[in-house]
Parts: sequence; structure tokens; C-alpha cells
Amino acid sequence: MAPGPPPRPGLPLEGRPAGSLAAPGGQDLARAVPAPLPPPDSVRLTDVTKTYPNGKAALLDVDLVIPSGDFVFLVGPSGAGKSTIIKLLVRDERASSGRVEVVGHDLGRMRRKDVPLLRRKIGIVFQDFRLLPRKTVYENVAFALEVTGTPRRLVEPAVERALALVGLTEQARQRPDQLSGGEMQRTAIARAMVHDPRLIIADEPTGNLDPLISWEIIQLLLRINEMGTTVMMATHDAEVVTALRRRVVALEDGRVVRDEVGGYHREY
Ligand code: ADP
Repeated sequence: MAPGPPPRPGLPLEGRPAGSLAAPGGQDLARAVPAPLPPPDSVRLTDVTKTYPNGKAALLDVDLVIPSGDFVFLVGPSGAGKSTIIKLLVRDERASSGRVEVVGHDLGRMRRKDVPLLRRKIGIVFQDFRLLPRKTVYENVAFALEVTGTPRRLVEPAVERALALVGLTEQARQRPDQLSGGEMQRTAIARAMVHDPRLIIADEPTGNLDPLISWEIIQLLLRINEMGTTVMMATHDAEVVTALRRRVVALEDGRVVRDEVGGYHREY
């Protein structure tokens, strides 16, 4: 016997009052076919205070939500607390009070053995690149996967994808001392992206680069953000921040003093 026509999408709703989601037989369709859950916020700090053991209060009552897919600049003078926020997000440090949630994980309740799992969902990029000097570009990126036990057959395609993303396929066999500053930072971004993270944290990524190369790195981070990865970038680069008109979170003395779309400095 010939199979019947495949069920047409929307068919179960026919013959019932517009707007009704009750399926024949009284079953609630909205419940029968659950909508996919939205991704968790990338960052959620609630009333976070951090006091270092020497008594220094580095963060005071910080509330900050960064939804999945957002692009945020974190600005503020030296000593304002930017690095402390980053250390809390990667669980290098723990909050003294308040709640720190990153891509759906409550870090206050996370066990130490689960921290590597968290770190795989976050990519970190530093001002000083932090590449392994004796390894090639390819090996630096591959190493990030190898240390987490990724099966060999998955390493090569993932590294090639990451290098293509940052435009370094041709330089794969070069060592860091054979690269320009911009290429070193692009290698670091490939390493950060190779796990396909939900969140990229860039800590002064253009701090060691001249203005033209800085723009290339920013364009790359914007492209990564457009592809769906949340980006949080700590920076002193007023020109870049002011030109891009993105969300700016400004810290001063451990408090969030501004959180709005705009320039590096307050404009009113
Ligand atoms: P930023 O990154 O904005 O320059 P930090 O988060 O590094 O600021 O520092 C915030 C404050 O906390 C500063 O006063 C700094 O001296 C202090 N601080 C940072 N790390 C430590 C630490 N490990 N022990 C004590 N104080 C610290």
C-alpha cells in the first residue's frame, strides 16, 4: 500500500477556534511540543562584592547582566575592578558575597573538578597574547584542545576552522617569533575560539598593538560576535569604544557607574 501523504505542518490546528492551542482530545500543544529554551545569559552578576585577603574591596555591589549574543565594552581607570570581574568569571577568584553566573553555571556552587568544563565554554584573549613560543601557530591552537582530551581526529578540523576564521591558514607552520603583533593576537583568538565557546572575554586585546592593527582585531571580534558568540572586551581604547557605539559598562572604584550604549566617556 502506498504511504499516505506526510502530515502537513499546522494541520492539528485546523478546525479549531483561531488562537486556540488545545489539540483535539484536549491535549495542550504548547506543552506537548516545548519551545527550545533560550540560551542562558552569558554573564549574570548579582550584588557581587569582592574583598581580597588584604582587606582591599575591589568590587562593591556589582549587578551586571550580559545576555547571550551581546557585545560589551568594560571600561574604567586602572584599579577600577575590570580584571577582578574577569577573574571571577573564569573562577580564578571567588566572590566574597553575591552570585556569579556564567553561561548558566552558578560559580559559587561549582565544584573545583567542574571548572575545566566552564573554561571550555569561555574563550579568553589577553593583551600579551600568551602563546607558547616553541610551538607553531597550528600547535598553539591545537594544544588548547589536546589538554582537554579532545580525540585526535577532531583536533585537525577544529584547528583548521579556527585558523580560517582568523585568516591565518597560511601562517600555520610559523612560530610566534615569526609573526607580527596582529598575527600573534589572531593566533590567540583562534585558540580562544577553537572550543566554539559561548563567551569570549578579551582583556585589553589591543593594548600592545598599533591603531591600524587594533582595528583589524576589533573587526574580527565583531565578526565573531555576529556569528553568535558573546563578547566582553575590557579596554582603555577610547577611540575604538567611542567609534563603535556599543554597550559600555564603566567601573570606578569597584562599582558600575554607567551601563549604556555610547562612547568611552559619559556624554551628558
Ligand atoms: P583593573 O583591572 O580595573 O585595573 P583590578 O581588578 O586589577 O582593576 O584591581 C581592583 C583593585 O583591587 C585595585 O585597587 C587593586 O590594587 C586591587 N587588587 C587586585 N588584585 C588584588 C589582589 N590579588 N590582592 C589585593 N588587592 C588586589
